[in-house]
Amino acid sequence: MRSLWSDAEAERFVDRYAAAGVGCDLALRVYTSRLLGGEPKLVLHGGGNTSVKTVMKDLLDEEVEALCVKGSGWDMAAIEPAGLPAVRLAPLRKLRRREVLSDEEMVRVQRANLLDPGAPNPSVETLLHAFLPHKYVDHTHSTAVLSLADQPDAAERCADLYGGRMGLVPYIMPGFLLAKKATEVFEADPTVEGLVLLKHGIFTFGDTAQQAYERMIEAVSLAEERLAHRRKTVFAAATLPGSIAGAAEVAPILRGACAIADPAGSGAWKRFILDFRSDAAVLNYVNGAELARYGRAGVATPDHTIRTKNYPLLVPAPETGRMDAFRQAVREAVDRFAAEYHTYFARYNAHQDPPKRELDPMPRVILVPGIGLFGLGRSARDAKIAADIARSTIETVTDAEAVGRFEPVGEADLFDIEYWSLEQAKLGHSSEKPLAGQIAVITGGAGTIGLATARAMTGAGAEVALLDLDGDTVQAAAKKLGAALGIGCDVTDRGAVRRAFDRVAEHFGGVDIVVSNAGAAAQGRIGEVEDAVLRQSFELNFFSHQTVAQNAVRIMRVQGTGGCLLFNVSKQAISPGPLAGPYGLPKAATLFLVRQYALEYGADGIRANAVNADGIRSGLLTPEFIEQRAAAYGLTAAEYMSRNLLHREVTAEDVAQAFLHHAVALKTTADVTTVDGGNIAATLR
Ligand code: ZN
Repeated sequence: MRSLWSDAEAERFVDRYAAAGVGCDLALRVYTSRLLGGEPKLVLHGGGNTSVKTVMKDLLDEEVEALCVKGSGWDMAAIEPAGLPAVRLAPLRKLRRREVLSDEEMVRVQRANLLDPGAPNPSVETLLHAFLPHKYVDHTHSTAVLSLADQPDAAERCADLYGGRMGLVPYIMPGFLLAKKATEVFEADPTVEGLVLLKHGIFTFGDTAQQAYERMIEAVSLAEERLAHRRKTVFAAATLPGSIAGAAEVAPILRGACAIADPAGSGAWKRFILDFRSDAAVLNYVNGAELARYGRAGVATPDHTIRTKNYPLLVPAPETGRMDAFRQAVREAVDRFAAEYHTYFARYNAHQDPPKRELDPMPRVILVPGIGLFGLGRSARDAKIAADIARSTIETVTDAEAVGRFEPVGEADLFDIEYWSLEQAKLGHSSEKPLAGQIAVITGGAGTIGLATARAMTGAGAEVALLDLDGDTVQAAAKKLGAALGIGCDVTDRGAVRRAFDRVAEHFGGVDIVVSNAGAAAQGRIGEVEDAVLRQSFELNFFSHQTVAQNAVRIMRVQGTGGCLLFNVSKQAISPGPLAGPYGLPKAATLFLVRQYALEYGADGIRANAVNADGIRSGLLTPEFIEQRAAAYGLTAAEYMSRNLLHREVTAEDVAQAFLHHAVALKTTADVTTVDGGNIAATLR
């Protein structure tokens, strides 16, 4: 691993933060924390921590000796001075005289000594940073170091590699006791440049930011060199079926099997988003004959257990054409995984006082021979974190097995971490949104109603895929929504719709909500209109809805967790307008389609509902068109747009809220909601 230290860059950090009143010590701490945090082989998603001891002014403008240490919830790759809360150093050091200190007490003392009472909680490893005398202290979970530190003979291997340069600390859970032990190891030989925490990670320290950082890089480089030599070939491959199904077909099966039904029978499910990864290293790992041994041995560093659980779910290879057998095998494997989790929880909870509350028993990583790995999470973000950690674990385990045998901490220690109140705190307490874990596909996604609906669904916690005719436009629209997926797709092209749904299944894991919204007005006096105009309108305003619904239902039935089909119909489907026949006829057929889906798939928990909107200013109803129609009635555009019982113009947001209502209304199907300001002629009866 190469040092990325640059004198010029370091100076830029000092200058930039000086302008904001941040001292040089802290500015350089931010700089090297980012260098460490930007390297996934060192630190992943909030792992690792750093500190600096410096003199600062407190709120009374008095100078105090302070420890600026990474705060909980901050990611080192993007850390700012505010992410390194300052704690008075002297009181922290006094704690070393204690024999015992509970985690809760430790947190209280740390918070009580913050220079700014509004700062985030200092890292759970704060005391270790405080007890060591060095100005700069860096801590990472380097994959290369862990390949050597997660071995049955880890102490011998690390002593052999580092000689006297690194102290070796046996595994102890982070907190007060680890801080005391690590300090004792350091004091036994104060010439060491750092400490290897067996089965956990590595600390380095120094008088300057550069020294501590470069000692980290050097220690990691030595581990990498060691791993490059005298390697066994790993892993001997298992025999797999000749033809393997793709991720798009496999993901909905996995996703459905891991979803948890509301025990009260409301029809709600706790669902997961999936994040698929595959490359040569992943395939080499998941295709190994001994996967059941090394793949389930444990996590590379205990911190990971809150994101990935103690080990992944293993399922058989999905053979093409035998997906029913695969689905059955997956369901059995998930049941076994959950049963093992209950047993594990019960075994260790028996000694807890007060008893802990069991977390959900579902896997967060699934390994599928022949295709790759899936990360699972309640959001796309959490699924990505699980997948990133799983990918990094594969690297650690592969290297560990190439030079020895991967042997991480056991499940008793992992239970302590998984159910440690301070670790649970890292996951946050924000209450979940109504559509958390759900995936919504919106056609006409780049249009006015599509985008408003996407914003409403995203706001309610769903992951969203937008489909629209122009690929560039829809991708740009998706980007503005954050983690949304944008797919160019002509919904009248059956093959394109199939490919788009496959993309969604591969990207997010499946689909739960479809808003079939794409459409366009067609005009013509019905007795004289050209046949082609009517047929073309049927392609877009009827058949595309059918194709989209067919694809959605195919995936929803594989998942087995119900779903929600939503159609943008029109008042034209109920009340014909002059010259609007070519538009109203297919929309009327689509209204009937809603009822047909509701009837035939209700038993699968799939709901089908329609929204009848009228008069939205959009690509369909352009300003010119509105002006023209308004003039025909002798009205202004605004008057024309509010020709309804309430005299209120309907907006895209109003329509979006109607779709959102149906997405959460679990007891409603075959319904039509009108969003038209009131129109007696188009009232359903
Ligand atoms: Zn750590």
